[in-house]
This record gives sequence, structure tokens and C-alpha cells, in this order.
Amino acid sequence: MMTPLLPPEEGDLRLVVFDWDGTLMDSPRRIVHCLQRAAKDTGAPVRDEATLRNIIGLGVQAAVRELYPDADDAFVQHFSDTYRECYLAADDAPETPLFAGVSDLLDWLNAREILLAVATSKSRRGLDQALEATGLGRYFVATATGDEYPSKPNPSMLQSVMGRAGVEPARTRMVGDSVYDLEMARHAGVPAVAVTHGVHSPERLSDESPLALQPDLESLLEAFRRAEGTT
Ligand SMILES: [Mg+2]
Repeated sequence: MMTPLLPPEEGDLRLVVFDWDGTLMDSPRRIVHCLQRAAKDTGAPVRDEATLRNIIGLGVQAAVRELYPDADDAFVQHFSDTYRECYLAADDAPETPLFAGVSDLLDWLNAREILLAVATSKSRRGLDQALEATGLGRYFVATATGDEYPSKPNPSMLQSVMGRAGVEPARTRMVGDSVYDLEMARHAGVPAVAVTHGVHSPERLSDESPLALQPDLESLLEAFRRAEGTT
């Protein structure tokens, strides 16, 4: 039987966990820019945008190992540091606005006493800076970052936020834009929803059989509204 977007009993959805980059924040262009900048600055081959979008969503070190399989640990660390410095500080890198509809969606879930959390491959410093800059920090009861846990699709960061929120997998939904989010959710036994305004194509995301595939956050809110109307 298909798992519904909302659990069958009213009030049974207790937690929604969001990925950050490409899901709530339109940051993939900045990530691509800084991965290419880090390649130039470290003397590594510069990968094209399609190759880079494929690995966005992994933790940065895991991503560097995918891009440069022969790299040693020292190079991976150096490249990762160079990338993060660019992402956090470069004035000439693309801006990172929130996607349309973020606060409407978070407010709607909040009004139903559904807890909210973030599981991101960003660094702690990067996430805290983004939460501060956007004012969204107040919404989330728990956050987990890429430098605190093994890279997605390892489920430990998702399990950690569920543990801190005190909510079991069946009453949780994971929302993400990459196959790594969906695989992580599957490993944790959490039903997942994909948004397609981020890095991975609808075709690629469909392979992971998410509960729902939505073009953007406004459509996702509409889907939650419709699901509420039918339970
Ligand atoms: Mg993402």
C-alpha cells in the first residue's frame, strides 16, 4: 500500500526534516561556482556544471572524492577548505536567495504543531550563517550538518534529528532535492518527498520512488493542504 503524504490519523505527522541547499535555499549555482574556483585554486581539473550538480548533496569531502578518485586525504582536506572559504565569503559568487514559498510552508506546518528540522551536507558554520542571514533558525527544533555526521546517504544525521525531536520514522517526512536525500530517508525508514527545483532531475529522483515529486515549495504546500483535506 502506498504511504500517504500525511499519515492516516489526524495529527500523526509529527516532524518534517528539510535538506537545505537546493531544497529551501537556491544555492546550487554558488556551490558550482565555488567547486570550480576551488579546482582552479588547488590545481585540480575543473569539472563541468552537469558533473558537479550530480554530486551536490553529498558531504563536501565525499563529493571531492567522487570528483577526484585518486586524491589523497591531504588534497581532499585542502580542496574542502578552499571550497568552504569561497562559499562562505566570496563576494563575486552567485547570491543564494530562499526559494519562493519557504515561510508559507514552514508557517503552515508550524501552525499544525508539526516539528521542523534540517539535515544538510553544509558545514555547521555554513548552516548557522544561513539560518542567521535568513531568520529561519527559529523554526527548527534540531539541525544536523555534514561536518558532524557521515555523508548522506548514511542515515545517521536523519536519525539524530528524529532522536532529538523524539519522533519515530513513520511520523516523519524527509524533503529533499537530491537522490542522496531520498536514499538517506530510505535507509532510515522515513517516507520522503522530492522537490525538483534543485540539483537532480525528476527522472533521477523518480528512481527512488518518493511519496510525492513536486516542482517547488508552493506546490508542496498545496499537496499538504490537499492531503489534509482528504484525511
Ligand atoms: Mg540539496
